[in-house]
Amino acid sequence: MANDIVLEVKNLEAGYDDVQVLWGVNLKVRRHSLTTIIGANGAGKTTTLKSICGLLKNVRGTVILNGEDISALPTHKRVDRGLVMVPEGRWLFPEMTVLENLRMGAFTKRARAKRDETLEWVYTLFPRLKERANQKAGTLSGGEQQMVAIGRGLMALPEVLILDEPSLGLAPNLVLDIFKIIQELKNEGLTVLLVEQNVHLGLAISDYAYVMENGKIIMEGTGSELENDPKVKEAYLGL
Ligand code: ATP
Repeated sequence: MANDIVLEVKNLEAGYDDVQVLWGVNLKVRRHSLTTIIGANGAGKTTTLKSICGLLKNVRGTVILNGEDISALPTHKRVDRGLVMVPEGRWLFPEMTVLENLRMGAFTKRARAKRDETLEWVYTLFPRLKERANQKAGTLSGGEQQMVAIGRGLMALPEVLILDEPSLGLAPNLVLDIFKIIQELKNEGLTVLLVEQNVHLGLAISDYAYVMENGKIIMEGTGSELENDPKVKEAYLGL
C-alpha cells in the first residue's frame, strides 16, 4: 500500500563543488520498518542521508515524507515534520550534561510541547541515561555517548529516525548493545533508516536493505535475501 511508505526518495543527485557523488538514487522506507543502506567507504551513503535531510546545496531529485514533497524545505522544517538524523560522530555538546543534550533535541515547537513526556520515554529506553542525567556528556563512554545521540534524536519525535554509522568506533560488545537498541526502537514502532558499515549485523536486523556502489543503488532486497546473495557475500561479507 502506498501509505505504507513513509519516506520516498526519487532520482537523487548530489555532490560537492564540481564532483558529482550521487547519480539518481531511489529508495523507499516503509512505516515501522528498519531499512539499511550498506556499501563501501565513499559509496555515497552519508551524502544520501545529508541530501535527504536538506544539509547539502544543489541537490536534485525528490524527497517525499508522508506523501508531502519536502525537497525544497530547509532542514529545520524537515525536522519539524519528523525527519530526524543522528549524525556520524555523534556531535554532542561535551561540556553540557546528558539531560541538557537530550533537551536540545526537542527544539521544534511540536517536540517542545511533549518534551517532559518524551524524556521519560527516552529514560525508559535508556535507564543508563537517567542515572547519568547530570553528568557531562564528554565524560561518558563511547557507547553511552551514542545512546545520548540517539536519545537526542528521539526527543525530536521522529517519523523516520536516520542513523549514520551508529556503531562506528565502538568496542565490539558495545556494537552489539547499539544493535540491540536499534532493534528495540523498531519494536517500539519507530521507523528507522540506518547506514551501516557492519554489513553482517546491519543486514541481520534489517527488514529491507539497499546496496550502494559509486553513488548508485545497485541491489535491494530483504535483509536475509541480501545476506544470502552470492555477490553480497563475496563483496561485503568476505565469504
Ligand atoms: P563513508 O563510510 O566513508 O562515510 P559513504 O558511503 O558515507 O562513505 P560519503 O561520505 O557519502 O560516502 O562520500 C561519498 C564521496 O563524496 C566520497 O568520494 C567522498 O570523498 C566525497 N565527499 C564526502 N564528503 C565530502 C565533502 N564535504 N567535500 C568533498 N567531497 C566529499
